[in-house]
Amino acid sequence: MGRRLASVIGPLERILWDRSPVILMYHRVAPSTDDLWGIAVEPDRFAEQIEALKRVRHVATLDEVLAWMDHGRPGDRPLAAITFDDGYHDALSAARPILEKADCPATVYVATGLVGSDRGFWWDELVRILMTAPATHQPLRLVIGRRPVAWLLPDDRSGRQRVCRQVRRRLRDLEPAEIDRQLDAICAWAGTARRLDPEDRLMTAEEVAELSRSIVQIGAHTVRHPSLPALPFEAQLAEIAESRRACEAWTGKPVPHFAYPFGHYSRASVAAARQAGFRSACATTPGVVRPWTDPYRLPRITPGRMDGEALTRLLS
Ligand SMILES: [Zn+2]
Repeated sequence: MGRRLASVIGPLERILWDRSPVILMYHRVAPSTDDLWGIAVEPDRFAEQIEALKRVRHVATLDEVLAWMDHGRPGDRPLAAITFDDGYHDALSAARPILEKADCPATVYVATGLVGSDRGFWWDELVRILMTAPATHQPLRLVIGRRPVAWLLPDDRSGRQRVCRQVRRRLRDLEPAEIDRQLDAICAWAGTARRLDPEDRLMTAEEVAELSRSIVQIGAHTVRHPSLPALPFEAQLAEIAESRRACEAWTGKPVPHFAYPFGHYSRASVAAARQAGFRSACATTPGVVRPWTDPYRLPRITPGRMDGEALTRLLS
């Protein structure tokens, strides 16, 4: 690109960024001390972020963002939508009170298969098993995709965390039933039973319904939270459509918005989300929403644990 062109496009890009809607992505509002996956923000910090957000943006629903994409409403302040993935119980107990106090709408995407069950997400179980397993010189041996893999579990905390990350990466793209078998094998190796830490539980169906009666809208996030591209189209469609049916049954409301688990999607996933009747689907690709953005590939921004000032700087 020529320097002159770049000198024009640079500021133009900046203006577009300043005025374009953003969609923020959260997972949990919870203590972050044992947050190996970097998905939790402390309640105080979350409240600080929301206050900062309100100073520079109009906090809108996803429907308002989609309407902006259709008609480009030039409001006095650019839009920001707030989203939460997964359906952890703290969306209701910790996030909702802060959102209500700030009068900020949000969408919570729920993976429906674990709602009200005695199982949590496999990555949380994995952390519990590996971080609390007794010290052993017996390597953890798994066969993943016919390939044998083995890990020696270190005694120290950071070494164990490293193993957690490595195992998660190896399991993440497997089919949910296969991940479940692997978790059973890991439990057998550690001499422990499958068990849900109450801190890591999802909402119950009643809690999802309660949340939907507040400032928060429920979105769908598949049934078993698979990496969708690993599944054939029909299985993707079943995961996507069934999670929508469950959310609608619990809330008695239409559920027009969806988010891809892990942000993973293929062309088939996009087609399945469309066929299942959703109006939008969120990815995890960083970026802002443009009028020409595909509503089934919406980018998102992750505030993480940044302070209010950093978030303001990022957005204004
Ligand atoms: Zn998720």
